[in-house]
Amino acid sequence: MIFGFLAKAEPDLGKLEEAYRQSFLRNDANQMRSALPVYVVAIWLFAFVDVQLYGWSWILLLLFSLRVIVTTWAFWLNRFLLQVQSFRILDTYLLIWAAGVYFLSLAVSFARSTGVFYNPSISVLLVIVSYLVFPNPLVWRIAPALLFTFGEIFLALFFRIAKNPSEVRSTIITILLANVLGYILSIRLHTFRRNQFKAQHEAQLARAEIERLANVDPLTNIINRRRFLELANDQLKSVEPFALLYLDIDFFKQINDTHGHATGDLVLQEFANLVVSQIRTEDIFGRLGGEEFALLLPKASLGTAKEVAERIRVACQNMNIQAGSQVLRVTVSMGLTITQASDSSIDEILHRADSGLYQAKQLGRNRVEVTEGNYLLASTA
Ligand code: GH3
Ligand code: MG
Ligand code: MG
Repeated sequence: MIFGFLAKAEPDLGKLEEAYRQSFLRNDANQMRSALPVYVVAIWLFAFVDVQLYGWSWILLLLFSLRVIVTTWAFWLNRFLLQVQSFRILDTYLLIWAAGVYFLSLAVSFARSTGVFYNPSISVLLVIVSYLVFPNPLVWRIAPALLFTFGEIFLALFFRIAKNPSEVRSTIITILLANVLGYILSIRLHTFRRNQFKAQHEAQLARAEIERLANVDPLTNIINRRRFLELANDQLKSVEPFALLYLDIDFFKQINDTHGHATGDLVLQEFANLVVSQIRTEDIFGRLGGEEFALLLPKASLGTAKEVAERIRVACQNMNIQAGSQVLRVTVSMGLTITQASDSSIDEILHRADSGLYQAKQLGRNRVEVTEGNYLLASTA
């Protein structure tokens, strides 16, 4: 169909199209809200012309009734657009609105076609409005303009041409030109808007990716040291207590030395996946560096944290890591501590957990050691 063919000139954004329309929804609704009163004032200004032309006749009554209907509808639409939530609903209501407006305009044109007065500039304006003011998909912008144009041409050819053939011909040409102009400007405007949206969207994706790269360890896909410390500091600022585990894979250097660095990397990945599978979404798990990890359990008591640590330790010791034709096994040692009222920095808490880890290594590895807040007193005594 001709509409479909003309609409192809403005390609949509595919998967992004909905987001694009939705992001401009407020903007579009507000634009329509300012256009509606202008339209209503305009049709009532022309009502005076009708009174002059037709006196108090049935034509005047009909035209006035149509004006009242369109005005009421405009007021209602104006309020409705304040809270419209979906661009599809916006499109549908605007299409119905356009149908009303252009029907009224054709009726006015028809009423005047028998008289002497005819002003084609209004028709030209209405065509341009359809192309430039409606935010609808292109085909919904073209349809009202073209249907109105054909209506006008029909009236001109059948009712007006006998009276003033050259005026009618130039009117038809002017309205057709208005369509060409409206069509071109409309496509330019909406393509520009789409490109602007696409650029913003891509910039947003790029920012998100930069942020991800800054926060995530590329090998294990869990957060890195920087991000872990940031989140742990946030936790420290909130008054809620938490438990902190310092985890270190046992004899990891041997895995690298015996099986190669790539296998070592695989072990790190498998270990990280294992821990992730054992914790809740609110727990904060990060890679501090090398084969050292930290796990923060918000609001966990010492008892709960011990259970979590044991669970991870056992799961790790039971995990089979398939490295080529070989199956590897690793164990993990952990230092565990919980926050004290006197803790003023994450470093302090990490240090305490690390000293638990040191003990776990000393005591033979593959175990969890708890350090309470007074360990410093104990170790310096
Ligand atoms: P311990 O039981 O006392 O913890 O001994 P360990 O061998 O695990 O500890 P050590 O600190 O001696 O060795 C850690 C090794 O981890 C040394 C380093 O080469 C290796 N390493 C650090 N980062 C990576 C990495 O990203 N990939 C691999 N494959 N190895 C790493
Ligand atoms: Mg280590
Ligand atoms: Mg180690």
